[in-house]
Amino acid sequence: MTATAPREGQLWSRCGDCATLLYRKRLRRNLDVCPECGAHARVDAPDRLFQLVDPGSFTALPDRPSEVDPIGFVDLLPYPHRLTAARAGTGLAEAVVCGTATVGRHPCVLAVMDFRFLGGSLGCVVGELITLAAERALADGVPLVLVTASGGARMQEGALSLMQMATVSQAIAALREAGLLTVSVLTDPTYGGVAASFATNTDVVLAESGARMGFAGPRVIRQITGRDLPEGFQTADFLLRHGQVDMVVPRHALRGRLAALLAAARAGRRPASRPAVPRQVPPSARPAVTTAQGAPGDAWETVRLARHPGRPTTLDYLETAFDGFVELHGDRLGADCPAVVGGLARLDGRAVMVIGHQKGHTTAELVGRNFGMASPAGHRKALRLMRLAARLGLPVVTLVDTPGADPGVRAEEQGQAAAIAENILALTVLPTPVVAVITGEGGSGGALALAVADRVLMLQHAVYSVISPEGCAAILWPDRGAAPQAARALRLTAPDLCRLGIVDDVVPEPTPAAHHDPADAARALRAAVLAHLLPLLDVPSTTLVRRRRQRFRRFGAARLGARAGAR
Ligand SMILES: [Zn+2]
Repeated sequence: MTATAPREGQLWSRCGDCATLLYRKRLRRNLDVCPECGAHARVDAPDRLFQLVDPGSFTALPDRPSEVDPIGFVDLLPYPHRLTAARAGTGLAEAVVCGTATVGRHPCVLAVMDFRFLGGSLGCVVGELITLAAERALADGVPLVLVTASGGARMQEGALSLMQMATVSQAIAALREAGLLTVSVLTDPTYGGVAASFATNTDVVLAESGARMGFAGPRVIRQITGRDLPEGFQTADFLLRHGQVDMVVPRHALRGRLAALLAAARAGRRPASRPAVPRQVPPSARPAVTTAQGAPGDAWETVRLARHPGRPTTLDYLETAFDGFVELHGDRLGADCPAVVGGLARLDGRAVMVIGHQKGHTTAELVGRNFGMASPAGHRKALRLMRLAARLGLPVVTLVDTPGADPGVRAEEQGQAAAIAENILALTVLPTPVVAVITGEGGSGGALALAVADRVLMLQHAVYSVISPEGCAAILWPDRGAAPQAARALRLTAPDLCRLGIVDDVVPEPTPAAHHDPADAARALRAAVLAHLLPLLDVPSTTLVRRRRQRFRRFGAARLGARAGAR
């Protein structure tokens, strides 16, 4: 993307991508996105602020135009001359504009970089201004939004500019500790020291369509490796595929996305409001599974229902039982696992983080989602979102539907066992309410990686088991054909697990099963999650964690022995 924002006064400008001659006013109305080819031209900081914040809400933080030339740098021109020229050319004091504003009426502090000013480079003053912006966000208790456009650290200030990466990162860390949302919006281009610090160490990373981000620039990589780079290298879509950004957002949608994120973060910080629905589930409201359906169905039949391709998936429930889902992608380490989906959503008006396994209804969908079998990257994405929820004070709802964790070679190479272990560990001490729902198949460790929760619910025809009936039959009978007997022996149905105390409540399904009436299934799931989540919202986090540990402690051998003896 090479188009430059046309100067005021020009009537026409040419798209840098498709070369169409465009009427300037029309281009501006379209936020400097070419109406012909969709190319996103670069936007300077004042225009960017105009596009993002509520009209009239922006108040600039004091600039500190200093005459800093800390190392007396001279190339063809002394550095102060370059600074003077940049100021004259942009009308800005430095390469970043910071201030307070509202976006969708949610207050925040913004720092917007301007690539026109010495390539948006990060020098001491830029670092100081962004740090002051972060400190202002901390003082005001509001989120920080960073819009990046930079070639990297400012060479003319030597190693002092390198230090700014640490200075700003430290300010971001303080916001994290305080549970304040940080968001970066990557715009084209974002490279070097900016990419390797505050552009990517925020809670949520959005990439504007057409943005490119990387540590090393493509020219450098080509020179060093002597190879051609793959098509689309370092573009927003490449970054999404490789787990580096939460989402790619076209310019016209940026403001709305930001507003949604700020709204969710704000909801998490609000003290829990008194809900209108009952705090405790009265015994009469508990679904009476065994009586409603007569005797519980055969376990093997339940396994078949739990695996039915028409059964509602996590994304189906996000559409029906929740509102306003904003999906967040990626593990930030190199991948975005399609078998796990997660993000911010609302449940009866309350902001929650929802994380679940995603299968699909058709063969193509199932293959695309790896049959809901999470890779280590999927578990790491889930972990990232759980921790984000805890920082923001949002409860976590997990929807479990997996035959098991991905058993492939690559998964092993990438540390599948440790990834699952880390999630289990993190969930046991997560300082926010967690409600897990087994919606379909709860397959062994892969299921538990999302199901160490304060309340574990199970849909009536879901199953939850240490091993698949086929796997168990093959090992112990040993005959895969004995799967139906194994299913009965494993005690994997909801009523069985309720009796064992592993599951707290059974969510009734429409007759004969969820896939016959997905809307009704969604209503039941939503009601059950709310009924179990609401009483947890007022519990102090230390109590919550203590009780959760006790919950899982009671599965120790001695207790189970006592339980078995009492039966
Ligand atoms: Zn164009």
